Amino acid sequence: MYTLMVDDIHQKFGTHEVLKGISLRARKGDVISIIGSSGSGKSTFLRCINFLETPCAGSVALGAHVLHAPSAGRRSSALQRELIEVRTKLAMVFQHFNLWAHMTVLENVIEAPLHVLSISRDEAVARARKYLAKVGLNAGVEAKYPSQLSGGQQQRVAIARALAMEPEVMLFDEPTSALDPELVGEVLKVMQALAEEGRTMIVVTHEMGFAREVSSHVIFLHQGRIEEQGPPQRLFQQPSSERLQQFLRGSL
Ligand code: ADP
Ligand code: MG
Repeated sequence: MYTLMVDDIHQKFGTHEVLKGISLRARKGDVISIIGSSGSGKSTFLRCINFLETPCAGSVALGAHVLHAPSAGRRSSALQRELIEVRTKLAMVFQHFNLWAHMTVLENVIEAPLHVLSISRDEAVARARKYLAKVGLNAGVEAKYPSQLSGGQQQRVAIARALAMEPEVMLFDEPTSALDPELVGEVLKVMQALAEEGRTMIVVTHEMGFAREVSSHVIFLHQGRIEEQGPPQRLFQQPSSERLQQFLRGSL
């Protein structure tokens, strides 16, 4: 059984077809890395998976919930409920953290559980502390504002915030690309630990080491299509497509 089934996603901006029919299947515990050059459609695809952007065509199924494009863009209340159900089960971590600057770390992490899941404040705070500890942040950071933290700490807060929703699938969009090189490792370490505890993750990444060592499956996107995909050992050691070979040489 698949946890997440994404089928034949198409997306266009004006006449520019950015995604030309992309599908993906994830079982519980799968870590799927999406690689490809800048502009190949990775972020657009990730945003279409949780309907942050409504695709032109395609569907996303998460358990019993199915969203079909473009009907999900319409505002009927049944569709909106379905959309909220799916979104709460798909937590996203962004390149630029997207923490709320005017809120403390604790407030950032409890916000969605309080207001979207409607759990009690005590429960939300207990969850926040649990997940902040899991990403290696101690109680000393709770009352700080994002600007008082390093980029690596901010991204770990963003991961704790995603975890606090107890999602079925976590989506990461280049979570380490905005970090100074010396801070990349601490975030990758947290992500590797999440993968090892069996979390289902879709990770857009430029970190080929992570894609090779941690993922169960790798998808190489090129100009809005899946050019090649497979287990990391095969993809990195015996890439069959010329474009993937070029990409891995750093010349695409
Ligand atoms: P990647 O994440 O792989 O770098 P993106 O998904 O960000 O690629 O972008 C894929 C293509 O879609 C690019 O050509 C980009 O310019 C275009 N694009 C992305 N978002 C928009 C938008 N909101 N409006 C117009 N073009 C867009
Ligand atoms: Mg991108």
